Amino acid sequence: MTEMNQRQRYDLKRTLEELKDCKGRHTELISLYVPPSKQISDVTSYLKNEFSESQNIKSKTTRKNVLAAIESITGRLKTFKKPPENGMVFFVGHKSAGSDQTEMVQYVIEPPLTINTFLYRCDSEFYLEPLEDMLSEKEIYGLLLIDRRECTVGILRGNRVELLKYMTSQVPGKHGKGGQSQRRFERLTEIAAHEWFQKAGEKASDIFREHKEIKGIFVGGPGPTKQYFVEEEYLHYEVQEKIIDTFDTGYTDEFGLRELVSAASETRTDLKISKEKKLMKKFLKEVTKTDLGLAVYGEPQVRKALEMGAVDTLLLSENLRKYRVKLTCPTCDYSEIKTIKEDDLKEFEPPDCPKCKTPTQMEISNKTDIIDELSDLAEKTSSDVEIISQGSEEGDSLYSAFDGVAGILRYPLNI
Ligand SMILES: [Zn+2]
Repeated sequence: MTEMNQRQRYDLKRTLEELKDCKGRHTELISLYVPPSKQISDVTSYLKNEFSESQNIKSKTTRKNVLAAIESITGRLKTFKKPPENGMVFFVGHKSAGSDQTEMVQYVIEPPLTINTFLYRCDSEFYLEPLEDMLSEKEIYGLLLIDRRECTVGILRGNRVELLKYMTSQVPGKHGKGGQSQRRFERLTEIAAHEWFQKAGEKASDIFREHKEIKGIFVGGPGPTKQYFVEEEYLHYEVQEKIIDTFDTGYTDEFGLRELVSAASETRTDLKISKEKKLMKKFLKEVTKTDLGLAVYGEPQVRKALEMGAVDTLLLSENLRKYRVKLTCPTCDYSEIKTIKEDDLKEFEPPDCPKCKTPTQMEISNKTDIIDELSDLAEKTSSDVEIISQGSEEGDSLYSAFDGVAGILRYPLNI
């Protein structure tokens, strides 16, 4: 597999966040990457060797913990005849759990993309780089705004816009003051403009050439200057080759970068950001309708619409960070389901069971990330799911104004 879907990407990101939080008190957390081509028996003998070498670890606790981790992995390996199609990764060890406590953690991950290299590491933290690389953004575009007064260089990573450089020129305006002949003034202005384009072109080229990962470049600005700049080839030929198209923008400063991205996403519908922008635009249009709009938002409302099978597209903010938690009474069969913020979960004290006569505290019997839970619900009624990333204009407005959960309906509803 060469690409992963939104859900796989989100789940991997969340797992990595958890793993990053695991700290060993000593060098006792084991990371093991197994590519699909590796024989299980080879991995087992590798571990056998590590096991005997780890007998030499001086600290008694560390030695005990490392040996336990290796044994745990060896045990798990027995359940595999061969590695899964993308390989697998083990993260096992005793993580520090406050004061003097440690807690054993065991993760077996089947990554969404292929593991290429066999790797064993024992450290005080898990080695996550190969998995983090899978998440790194591949959709990267250069942004350039130019007119006779300003030049702005930026980059679009997925749906995040970054400003890299802002420059201003000394080119005088089109109309001269008295005293000079108009023709002479125009000639001087053209020379100044040419020098400015050269300078801006060189600087922009330097920046874009440093970013080899750029797939293409969008050029913007008001009026015909940007086309002139492109046609006269003021950029280095390697950069010149990457230009995709020019677009009209009102501004050539940082604000213009967003304008440029909007303009580009209108015509370049294959861009990741285009899809998000289009869906959020559609949703906002429905929200503003006074009656019978097709918008729904807020977790309980959207959940209800999903259960009715009325949602066409479910929009979820990537940074929701909430869990759907099932509380069960250990004495009777009573249970209830609640949504709890990730930050509140650590301090969370389950309430007493409302059914039992003697006070009995309920227990958390199950917890699911709300994005996974709502996505599953959506899949049951064939609704599309779009996880809107944070950091983009659309993502921020979904998160702050609509509770991070919204939907476009198949038919109007009164919830
Ligand atoms: Zn009870």
